[in-house]
Amino acid sequence: MKRVDNFNAGPAALPLEVLEEVREELIDFRGTGMSVMEMSHRSKEYEAVHNEAQARLRRLLGIPDDYRVLFLQGGASLQFAMIPMNFLGDGRRALYVLTGAWSEKARDEAVRFGEVVVNDWATAGGYRDIPDRIPEDDGAFAYVHITSNNTIFGTQWPQFPKTLSPLVADMSSDILSRPIEVTDFALIYAGAQKNLGPSGVTVVIAKDEFLAGENANLPTMLRYSTHVKSNSLYNTPPTFAIYIMDRVLAWVERLGGLAAVAERNRKKAALVYEAIDRHPQVYLGHAEKRARSQMNVTFRLASEELERAFLSEAAERGFVGLKGHRSVGGCRASLYNAVPVEAAERLAQFMDDFARRH
Ligand code: PMP
Repeated sequence: MKRVDNFNAGPAALPLEVLEEVREELIDFRGTGMSVMEMSHRSKEYEAVHNEAQARLRRLLGIPDDYRVLFLQGGASLQFAMIPMNFLGDGRRALYVLTGAWSEKARDEAVRFGEVVVNDWATAGGYRDIPDRIPEDDGAFAYVHITSNNTIFGTQWPQFPKTLSPLVADMSSDILSRPIEVTDFALIYAGAQKNLGPSGVTVVIAKDEFLAGENANLPTMLRYSTHVKSNSLYNTPPTFAIYIMDRVLAWVERLGGLAAVAERNRKKAALVYEAIDRHPQVYLGHAEKRARSQMNVTFRLASEELERAFLSEAAERGFVGLKGHRSVGGCRASLYNAVPVEAAERLAQFMDDFARRH
């Protein structure tokens, strides 16, 4: 068996231990004589998995009792629409802080439903930095929307803003990578396919008080209350994705929780950023140092020719997923939770070696 060093941006690496456990349980799930994919989502065996996954998320993130944990479908992209659909309109306004392509997409959905004010401080600079203030926030917005980690540009909020209006965050690409203070947020959402598990499930963590403001005139599936009332079992949930997420969460617990995971992630990111900084004539990091993402390290090489050589040699060495997003080009190493420290070490070593030779 050969596992590659997987730097994919999402779907991305899963912990090997989890894949082995899933393989072990695949055909006969815990003595039921069938796989978890083949049983009713109303069965006690599946419900145990569903509730376990919720409980683990609550413990790991320190989610208080007045917050709901929902497992939805449609990806983070449906949340781009569901949030304004539910919480804008009726003269309410939202503030969108643009820090990358995904925040722009979120804004593009919001303008269909209500008045949107943007903070585009980071846009003109090519999304290399994160604002340290949001001066537009007068406390009267229905919510302020941020993207905690910008998967494409490789920037991340080093610490979260204390907003006057309720704070909503797309945490698709850094949820569970570091401890957070859930009470700073009214709503957090994340597609699972980076740090939580496979694609197919979207996690929403939201405060009851905020959810109370939802628009009651929407289709059943698009109202949060539908999923709150049914414990995310209104219709058939993506049972297999939720099961794998539960196994990933158990793995994070075994690592020692989010403080331990954050330390490991800092180490991995430092290895790769230090390699970039050691060879400024070869590698150019995209992000300002203070806004560097611990999850997605983005960089260019001194010329396009050198970049092609780098990517081709990297592929030969068994490094996967280092090509930057098709919209921006360049290179990107995604270092999500499941990427081992040794993979980051091997990449940094290769970067040193490549730089010396070119
Ligand atoms: N937000 C961010 C920060 C992302 O990285 C992505 C996907 N890469 C999305 C939203 C879109 O997620 P989905 O494909 O789950 O709709």
